[in-house]
Amino acid sequence: MINTAPTEVTRNARPFLHGPEAAAMNDALQAGQYGHSSRVEEFEHAVADYLGVPDMVAVASGTAALQLALLAAGTGPGDEVIVPSQTFCASVHAILATGARPRFIEINPHTLCIDEDQVRAAITPATRAVLPVLYGGRAVDLSALHDTLESQGISVVQDAAHAFGSRSGTTLVGAQPGVLTCFSFGPIKNLTCGQGGGIIPRTTAEADALRGLRSLGITQSQQERAAATTYSVHGFGLRATMSDLNAAIGLVQLQHFATVAAKRKALWTSYATRLKPLTGVALVDVDVEHTVPFNCVVHIPDRDRVFRELRRRGIGAGVHYPPNHTQPAFQAWNRPLPVTEESGRHLMSLPFHPAMSDDDVRHVVSVLAHALPQEDACGAC
Ligand SMILES: *Cc1c(COP(=O)(O)O)cnc(C)c1O
Repeated sequence: MINTAPTEVTRNARPFLHGPEAAAMNDALQAGQYGHSSRVEEFEHAVADYLGVPDMVAVASGTAALQLALLAAGTGPGDEVIVPSQTFCASVHAILATGARPRFIEINPHTLCIDEDQVRAAITPATRAVLPVLYGGRAVDLSALHDTLESQGISVVQDAAHAFGSRSGTTLVGAQPGVLTCFSFGPIKNLTCGQGGGIIPRTTAEADALRGLRSLGITQSQQERAAATTYSVHGFGLRATMSDLNAAIGLVQLQHFATVAAKRKALWTSYATRLKPLTGVALVDVDVEHTVPFNCVVHIPDRDRVFRELRRRGIGAGVHYPPNHTQPAFQAWNRPLPVTEESGRHLMSLPFHPAMSDDDVRHVVSVLAHALPQEDACGAC
C-alpha cells in the first residue's frame, strides 16, 4: 500500500525549531569557546530563573545528570537505589555507573509511575537513594515519605527527563524542596539543547560538588586556569560539562518554551478526546492539568500486531519502554514484576511532537481504530 500518511506522523518524536537556533549556533561557532563558557552559565541562570530556584548545574546529558546527582548524594558500591523497571535504560546505567545496584519496583499501570507504598516496601538497610521517574512528564510526589527517607539517610534523586515545565501541585518540578532533580535536554525532550542535561542541587555545597564532578574534579574557572601555571584536582570527576554550542540552542528553546508547553498540552488533550470512543484502548493518564506531556501512551490489545500495522501505514508508533528488569544486562537484579511485565506487553506510544496538528492526531487515531482487533474499535468508526 502507498504510504499516504501526513509527514508529521511518520516520526514518533522530533525536535521542534523556532528559527533563531541557527543564528545562535553560528554565533557560538564563531566565538570558538566550545566547552564550558559564559553562555553555559547564562543558560544555567535562565533555567534556574524559569524554575524559581537558586541554581542549576548544566551537564552533558540527562544520563550524566543522574550519575552525578547520585554521586553527589553519596551513592556508591554496596548501595541500593530504588527505581521503577518501567523507564529508559539510561536511569539504570546511571545507577550502575556509581557502583550501586538497582532495586527494581512496580509502577501504577494507569500512570506508569511509582507510588509511595511501593517505595516504602522496597527500602532495605542498603538503600541510599530513590529514583522516581516522572513518566510522560507526570510529577511523582513522595513527600509523605520525607521523614522516613530522611531518618535513614536516603536521598530522592528524580529522573525528570520527561518533565521539564510540569508541576507537582502548584510547584514546578525542580523546585520541590529536598529533592535532587535531573533533567534531560536531549533531542526530543520538552526543552532541548540538542544534547544536554541539568541538575537542580539541594544546597550550595551540593552545587559546588556537582561542578567539580562534571569537570574532572578541577574547581578553578577557565580564566583562572589560563592565567596560572598549574591547576588542582580536588576530587573525582568526569568530563561531563555542557558544550557552549548546546547552551546556545537551549537559550533559544527556553525563550519559546511557553509555546511548546501549550502545544504539547493541546495535542495530548486532542488525543484524549479522540481516543475515548475506542473501547479497547486505555490511555495512560499524564495529569495534563499539571503536566507538560512528553508523550502519549496507550495500552492496547494485540500490541505487536497493531504496532506493525501502524508502521506499515506510515505511523511512527513506538514503545517506551521495554521493562529493564528482564534486559540481559540487568539480569542480576531481576525480580518478578508482573504488573510491569503485563503493562510492557501492551503499551505503545503514538506520534507526539509540537509540529503535529490536530488533523495529524485525527489521522493517527483513525488508523489506530482500523488496526485494532474489531471488537475493540468503536462502533462509529
Ligand atoms: C532521555 C532520558 C534519559 C537520559 O537522558 P539523555 O539526555 O538522553 O542522556 C533518562 N531517563 C529517561 C526517562 C529519559 O527519557
